[in-house]
Amino acid sequence: MRRPIFAANWKLHKNRGEAAAYVRELLPRVAGMDGVEIVLAPPFTALDAVATALAGSAVALAAQNVHPAASGAFTGEVAPGMLADLGCRFAIVGHSERRALFGETDAGVASKAAALLAAGLRPIVCIGETLEQRDADQTFDVLRTQLAGSLAGLPRNRARDLVLAYEPVWAIGTGRSATPEMAQEAHAFVRECLVAQFGEAGAEIQIQYGGSVKPENAAALMAQPDIDGALVGGAGLEAESFSKIIHFEAQEGSS
Ligand code: PEP
Repeated sequence: MRRPIFAANWKLHKNRGEAAAYVRELLPRVAGMDGVEIVLAPPFTALDAVATALAGSAVALAAQNVHPAASGAFTGEVAPGMLADLGCRFAIVGHSERRALFGETDAGVASKAAALLAAGLRPIVCIGETLEQRDADQTFDVLRTQLAGSLAGLPRNRARDLVLAYEPVWAIGTGRSATPEMAQEAHAFVRECLVAQFGEAGAEIQIQYGGSVKPENAAALMAQPDIDGALVGGAGLEAESFSKIIHFEAQEGSS
């Protein structure tokens, strides 16, 4: 049985005070929600403040990136063990913004994911096609290639520690979500690939949908059999809207 997992990716937003205020607002809204995993991914500079504010709660902390080395001459980078030391249990790797703006490759994502697993953290591995690729009917080919490269060499016995995030690039930050049917079709394909690589453990890997998830469309997306939660950008910046997504609160006039 896969537990739904909801992660708010704050990207380059919030200083320490704003981050702590968000946590104070979120925690009462999600109290007692034991059936779901809730994850906050602040910028590196707010990780410590969020860890402190989350102390004693079941909400988990994530980084938005990591360097695969444990230590060394890598100016500006942060190692998996440093994230663990701050209380991180997850890190996002391969977000489309990092792939598009910072040259992140599938092989680089795989080495980050392996390093996170070795340090006891769970990688949230992002994949997804661009609009041009979807329009050219290349979605499944793109997903197959990204999965093969981004998960290459990861140990089968750690498959259950992985989280996948299917995020069609054209739906990120655009207000234009995939329809539940489109998302389910992609998730079912990702699931097939995961089972092919990891055997029956692949069926237990949580697959999040990401791309303009909001309170109005969360319920319909989460009703799909292979959608196990969401990676949320814009609507994750407010505790109120993020908690509504976690509660799957379909709003009147939902799309
Ligand atoms: C994201 O950046 O991962 C994302 C899904 O953003 P948004 O929810 O704003 O589309």
